[in-house]
Amino acid sequence: MKKFIKYLLLTACLGLFISGCSSSGADGASAKDTLIVATNAEFPPYEYYENNEIVGIDIDIIKAVAEDIGMKVQIEDMAFDSVIASIQSGKSDVGIAGLTITEDRLENVNFSIPYTETQQVVIVNENSDIVAIDDLKNRSIGVQLGTTGDIFAEDVEGATVERYNKGMEAIQALRQGKIDAVIIDKEPAKVFVSQNNDIEMLDEDFVVEEYAIAIGKDNTELLEKINASLEKLKDSGKLKEIADKYITAE
Ligand code: GLN
Repeated sequence: MKKFIKYLLLTACLGLFISGCSSSGADGASAKDTLIVATNAEFPPYEYYENNEIVGIDIDIIKAVAEDIGMKVQIEDMAFDSVIASIQSGKSDVGIAGLTITEDRLENVNFSIPYTETQQVVIVNENSDIVAIDDLKNRSIGVQLGTTGDIFAEDVEGATVERYNKGMEAIQALRQGKIDAVIIDKEPAKVFVSQNNDIEMLDEDFVVEEYAIAIGKDNTELLEKINASLEKLKDSGKLKEIADKYITAE
């Protein structure tokens, strides 16, 4: 049986070779000129759907990087906590998903130089008695599964952590009174608050986090190319231009 499969594969490869449509064999011609990008399009303004298309700051950044290094992009939308795994398994070349650089993630992937700085924030219902981070003790906190907000919530004394697949689902649970607060990244928080006038953001911020592009551990060549490209985009003002397109000044 195995032999038969091998034979089939071989013939398939040979077929491709003869027809001249592949130069790289079983792992696909696309790997050479197309950057497979893992993201989770539930995170405005970094990645979200608009008219059935995935758009946002991260998407524009990765497209600019790819253009600079002479590659096309193929965006793959998946659950947030699959993004790193998808790079590790080689299914995706890079991940861009508002990914904060963390020690834990660095064990599994490499990170490019950071392209943005941000913070976690707390969202509560209007008129909530939670007015500071300290008030979160012993309360129920909603987070998006596997995010740095999830890690922070875990550390809050006595708190119950409710995990959702999408940030928006945590916001809905908050508005329905199922949970007392949501911990999430600042820019998506601003978007969610602007869309729902019954919730608000606390003024107090958590520590600063940095977003970067995740790349496979063995793919140092790509890492170097991406870093060089990000430097260029920073220096030329392109990165700022992209951010300004999606984030209106406070
Ligand atoms: N910055 C957070 C993290 O890396 C959240 C990212 C997200 O939800 N897309 O965990």
